Amino acid sequence: MVYPIHQLKRLRRTSALRDLVQETRLTSAELIYPLFIVPGKNQEQPIHSMPEQYRYSPDALMPILEKINASGVKTILLFGQADVKDAQGYSVYAADSCVVQALAVIKKYNPEWVVITDVCLCSYTTHGHCGLLKVLPNGQRIIDNPKTLEVISKAAVVYAQAGADIVAPSGMADGMVAAIRAQLDRQHLDHVAILAYAVKYASSFYGPFREAADCAPEEGDRRGYQMNFANKKEALLEAAFDVEEGADLLMVKPGLPYLDVLSELTQHFSLPVFAYQVSGEYSMIKAAAQQGWLNEQQAVLESLLALKRAGARAIITYFALSVDLGAR
Ligand SMILES: [Zn+2]
Repeated sequence: MVYPIHQLKRLRRTSALRDLVQETRLTSAELIYPLFIVPGKNQEQPIHSMPEQYRYSPDALMPILEKINASGVKTILLFGQADVKDAQGYSVYAADSCVVQALAVIKKYNPEWVVITDVCLCSYTTHGHCGLLKVLPNGQRIIDNPKTLEVISKAAVVYAQAGADIVAPSGMADGMVAAIRAQLDRQHLDHVAILAYAVKYASSFYGPFREAADCAPEEGDRRGYQMNFANKKEALLEAAFDVEEGADLLMVKPGLPYLDVLSELTQHFSLPVFAYQVSGEYSMIKAAAQQGWLNEQQAVLESLLALKRAGARAIITYFALSVDLGAR
């Protein structure tokens, strides 16, 4: 008895045939590179838990900007840090903060690039939480929503005035998108878009980022405002609130453990949905590759293509500059 080879196998025979019928592709224009900015001069600090990633002072950005330019990546996501931390996170909206300085350097280097600024308080407050805190009668400390919105909106305006194309509030305070939209519009910054961290899970995969952004909470954790990773329907609600408040773009974070959520979100909403392949996802692949247990380039491409296949319009990834989009 002769069994026929079905047509799918026939089309897998050579790499040219496989390329011809490949459903999903990735270009460098769909990748976003996160960049950590620190105050000071001449700083290029290695992040120990994220091999080959660094924190830069604004004056030391030139080599990495050259690298971004060579990679074809056109979008950068900036994270900043405080000169001095305080309970109120005042320095987040300082007019001369390292993020504002970095924006000037980047926009001068290439005005065409899209620059997104993270807007959050956790790197700026002594307590390390994503918002300002208030104490309940039982002693529990929770996010003071109205006060947080006030400070975050001020920061968004400062970054937008400094040239940010998109602001990305990551703290998940309620009403944040609406509050920022209102402030931006009032300041004639209605051309600046908002990327909502609509779906941000309370994830252990953020571990290395906390070293990078110096933002581990002093006590407690973020489960009071980030999402429970057991839930998916909640993600649709969170996103619906942000869409209603005027978000231009949505994000799911982390990436690979949440492909089902990403896929569901892209089916429910017509706005572009971005995926964030977070620090822990980066460090896992790096660590395994350093041991010789994984082929780094293949693992990176496979995980990024999986995010694209699940519906991500763009992907924030620490591999943006090093990924070999042709690795097979
Ligand atoms: Zn935060």
